[in-house]
Amino acid sequence: MSITHAIEVIGLVKKYGSKTAVDGIDLKVETGEIFALLGPNGAGKTTTVEILEGYRKASGGQVRVLGFDPATKGSAGQRWRNRIGIVLQSTTDAADLSVIETISHYANYYENPRDVEQVIDEVGLREKINAKARELSGGQRRRLDVALGIIGSPEILFLDEPTTGFDPEARRSFWELIRTLKAEGKTILLTTHYLDEAQELADRVGVINNGKIIEIGTPQTLGGRNTALAKVSWLENGKQQVIETKDPTTEVIRLNQRFNGEIPELEVARPNLEEIYLKMIGELK
Ligand code: ATP
Repeated sequence: MSITHAIEVIGLVKKYGSKTAVDGIDLKVETGEIFALLGPNGAGKTTTVEILEGYRKASGGQVRVLGFDPATKGSAGQRWRNRIGIVLQSTTDAADLSVIETISHYANYYENPRDVEQVIDEVGLREKINAKARELSGGQRRRLDVALGIIGSPEILFLDEPTTGFDPEARRSFWELIRTLKAEGKTILLTTHYLDEAQELADRVGVINNGKIIEIGTPQTLGGRNTALAKVSWLENGKQQVIETKDPTTEVIRLNQRFNGEIPELEVARPNLEEIYLKMIGELK
């Protein structure tokens, strides 16, 4: 295996007894890329990510993260661990330490931590800086988890459903933070159930179902999205008219000529990532 990719996975298998949770996954994530894993509950996303983090042992296949096998204690030791940041699916234990104490405490574990105060601002916890972790709301606790994931200035960040419980504003500022981290050259692997999050952030998306990757593509091209039929709709005779077409431009020109100008309530839309994803998952059920 080369080490040009931040993450390389070949033929990954994970069995829990007779249950095959991950069934031969191949995956490469480039350095500096944001990659989103999508899939229904129980698809195998967390299992895959936790194997990459070194928290679970694979039953088969090859895994390299920053060139090391996360399961090999010797090579993937503390130095390797310091180069990765992790936000697990379950939240931090509620503690008696305040937000700033918790983050400062974690910062001490790393050689080159980010600035604690800056991280507090980045995750939007300034107002709660002295609140105890156990006094935070669910969404605020999740922000603290994200702060702990990035405090070590990691090269790769693993985010398992990072924005669950965030209000819309918090999600948008989280997206900004992720874009900042990408601009710094970080590699990010995230799992999410929010299709708009994947569409906003991901360079590439992998859809996983029943432990298998169904397709990998950009949010623009996944499932043939870029070549899918477009819906052209407009108001005519008091009714909304809709047609599906491969060539919406021609249709709009035709309508424009017919109306001799403005087309009432004209809309042209291609399926969004959520529609494409639900179709992909639905087809396979
Ligand atoms: P979600 O979106 O609900 O988080 P997921 O895609 O992350 O789902 P996993 O948590 O990886 O899914 O689970 C994949 C499968 O493996 C599921 O069928 C789950 O029940 C099973 N599984 C996960 N962890 C264990 C375990 N420790 N022991 C036995 N089975 C497990």
